[in-house]
Amino acid sequence: MKPYQHQSSNGARVDLQPGKVVCVGRNYADHAKELNNPLPSTPLLFMKPATALTDLSQPLALPVGRGPCHYETELALLIGQPLTHADEADCLRAITGIGIALDLTLRELQDQLKADRHPWEIAKGFDGACPVSAFVPFTVNEAGKHTLLNQDIRLHINGELRQNGNTGQMITPIARLLAYCSSHFSLMPGDIVLTGTPAGVGVLNRGDQLQLALPGLLEVTTHVA
Ligand code: ZN
Repeated sequence: MKPYQHQSSNGARVDLQPGKVVCVGRNYADHAKELNNPLPSTPLLFMKPATALTDLSQPLALPVGRGPCHYETELALLIGQPLTHADEADCLRAITGIGIALDLTLRELQDQLKADRHPWEIAKGFDGACPVSAFVPFTVNEAGKHTLLNQDIRLHINGELRQNGNTGQMITPIARLLAYCSSHFSLMPGDIVLTGTPAGVGVLNRGDQLQLALPGLLEVTTHVA
């Protein structure tokens, strides 16, 4: 398989080295509730390595023999400028592209790791654990307004609507989320930030047909190999 490279929605290669993937847990209250998780008082961050990245439009290769693999549909932000202790306005200006991604999760393994109070990485950081779409350009106008304050995000599996959220439901909105990340570690050009999943997560099965959409921005179809 070709090594992963960020792509633009117009088909061009994005000339940024794929970096780390920073993820936020429990950023939509309805999803925290469905997994019986308390709401965090500050963003709950974890990371996937660059080797987790793969092209969402290609068939999804799930780990074999490691228990159920769950989908979590998430808005993905491609970072274009370094961010260290950055304010919210600079964070917004540093976003170069918007995509949609799956935060694939080995749920039984994650539950065991949580019970043992261990980090989650092996349940969420395996090769191919972050299939991501091509990116559409992102811009902020002079008033600081942008299109992601009220963006629907949807997943259909085999024609059935499974996840249906809106970025307006995020507990920590994207500018504050990036500023929080950058107060703890630098975000670099080529990094991706996943912004959490709305309710409706569940298991993937061989042959499932997935349609992921940010209505009005982009749509991707794929399937489980
Ligand atoms: Zn997630």
